[in-house]
Amino acid sequence: MSFASGRHFLQIPGPTNVPDQVLRAMSAATIDHRGPRFAALVPEVVEPLKPVVGTSGDVVLYPSSGTGAWEAALVNTLSPGDRVLCFETGHFATLWQAMARQLGLEVDFVPGDWRHGVDPAEVPARLTPDVKAVLVVHNETSTGVTSDIAAVRRAMGDHPALLMVDTVSSLGSVDYRHDEWNVDVTVSCSQKGLMLPPGLGINAVSAKALAASESARLPKSYWDWKPIIEANKRGAFPYTPPTNLLYGLREALRMLHAEGLPQVYARHARHAAATRAAVQAWGLELLCADPQAYSNTLTAILMPEGHDADKLREVILDRFDMSLGAGLGKVAGKVFRIGHLGHFNDLSLAGTLSGVQMGLRLAGVPVKPDGVTAALSVLADA
Ligand SMILES: *Cc1c(COP(=O)(O)O)cnc(C)c1O
Repeated sequence: MSFASGRHFLQIPGPTNVPDQVLRAMSAATIDHRGPRFAALVPEVVEPLKPVVGTSGDVVLYPSSGTGAWEAALVNTLSPGDRVLCFETGHFATLWQAMARQLGLEVDFVPGDWRHGVDPAEVPARLTPDVKAVLVVHNETSTGVTSDIAAVRRAMGDHPALLMVDTVSSLGSVDYRHDEWNVDVTVSCSQKGLMLPPGLGINAVSAKALAASESARLPKSYWDWKPIIEANKRGAFPYTPPTNLLYGLREALRMLHAEGLPQVYARHARHAAATRAAVQAWGLELLCADPQAYSNTLTAILMPEGHDADKLREVILDRFDMSLGAGLGKVAGKVFRIGHLGHFNDLSLAGTLSGVQMGLRLAGVPVKPDGVTAALSVLADA
């Protein structure tokens, strides 16, 4: 668009809209990362992050994207040739297992249809005695499908494998309990539910995972947890940290705690329900085929036969200056995704769905006209 007045609608499921308070908090002088002011900042970001992850244990921050945090989880805990069990819930699960292969791990990849989460009933049979880690994506951002992490852990019984969970598009938006669910490594990053720009990777680490890192033999240096955890105790990092992103994280965490985590999670659930009501009223189909597994942070919608999702997204970007998520991997062109996470409220959803509804009509997609009305009723009744 050569000219657009008003704000761009960034309704992809991450990166998400960064609140003005967070932008302002980041717009401050970078300080000496070995000085006393920085030392005071470290606990101010690490401690309030812990309840969001549901842990009282160690949390490690990296200057990285989520992909870096995936790699950190693997190289800290595993050795060449170790077997890991992965589930094909969608594009991100596929990428994570591909990384595991590339790092020299043996991967058992349980096939999936991209419309369901991990079936816990399948876990015991797949969990051979030599499996060292089970990798699960909590909220598949490519499909809008969640997996029940507590149920997966229960299905693992007393098998000694580590449980590693990707929470990149759920953390800060959906209830998540690292300690209570007995997760060993939680992987996340800054640019989705945490309402920050890209650039911060996150690992939460159980005592068991930390112990595994002592003997794990995959090469690690930059990603090594230990020097970071040690330095953090002194309010420092082993290398130059992304100071301004940490200012932003401190502010974003203040916002989440001021609203209250239960309220934040309820808000996301309500916006997801309203979005699904719109989809149903339009007469379109959700990609997620299991109502128990609906994502609260994004909705992936199937295009009717003969209609291209990318064409629709192009029309909507061109006419309404709104970005929607593309179909990724196997579902490219077949679905579009609406992100409804992070810094988002009832009227942001109303605007988003209005743009989708007008775009569907302009793109000649046969839909019933009342999706927005259905969504507004859900919002008004809640
Ligand atoms: C976005 C995303 C990633 C990748 O994160 P990057 O920051 O792009 O490296 C990984 N997993 C999930 C579930 C995601 O949504």
